[in-house]
Amino acid sequence: MTPERITENTLRLRQSLPQGVELVAVSKFHPSEAIMASYRAGQRSFGESRAAEFVAKAKTLPEDISWHFIGHLQRNKVRQVVPYVSMIQSVDSERLLRLIDAEACRVSRKVSILLQVHVAKEETKTGFAPEELAELACSGIFDSLNGVLIEGVMGMASNTDDLERVASDFDQIRQAYESLASGSMAKNSRFRILSMGMSHDYQLAISHGSNMVRIGTGIFGEREY
Ligand SMILES: *Cc1c(COP(=O)(O)O)cnc(C)c1O
Repeated sequence: MTPERITENTLRLRQSLPQGVELVAVSKFHPSEAIMASYRAGQRSFGESRAAEFVAKAKTLPEDISWHFIGHLQRNKVRQVVPYVSMIQSVDSERLLRLIDAEACRVSRKVSILLQVHVAKEETKTGFAPEELAELACSGIFDSLNGVLIEGVMGMASNTDDLERVASDFDQIRQAYESLASGSMAKNSRFRILSMGMSHDYQLAISHGSNMVRIGTGIFGEREY
């Protein structure tokens, strides 16, 4: 994909998203030049999924970029990631949550996080089952954390052509979000992000309540792994 196309794709997407829906441009596996082409279209939020790649990019690219970490984060990579990240969307275990909190406190940062909910049929996808999330909320742990700002929920639908399944996955993720929003997070005014939807399913995700979409291929083209 040429830089010009990336700039155009970003502009088109930014103009087409309904108001109130935030775009995270997923730049994993794409070079810094591709990120800068999207940046020139006004895009400032980018998503990465591998710690070393993310840190290398964050060190050299403009400081007004908000970096979102969206991939499974290994506990031994937390220390590398915390200094540069604005939001970790892929918090998928209590241990990881506590570790991010401790590390953020240690370096006097506040790190925004989303709790990742798992509803998809693929076993490979990580995250809390909705019941686990309810238990975690009940345990009172959220009130005891000082280094993280819990801003919402992230989830992925099953990777299938069965649109009814995809729609029902999005509804389940939304329900998990809403029960926290009206329950243990009711007093947390920051808790308002429902991150759902990728290149192939973001329109459906928005119609099911998403207010943050994570789009890679639709902006940058296919990834070369
Ligand atoms: C890679 C990735 C995306 C972007 O996927 P595209 O299909 O390229 O838009 C979104 N969310 C997560 C969690 C990802 O890992």
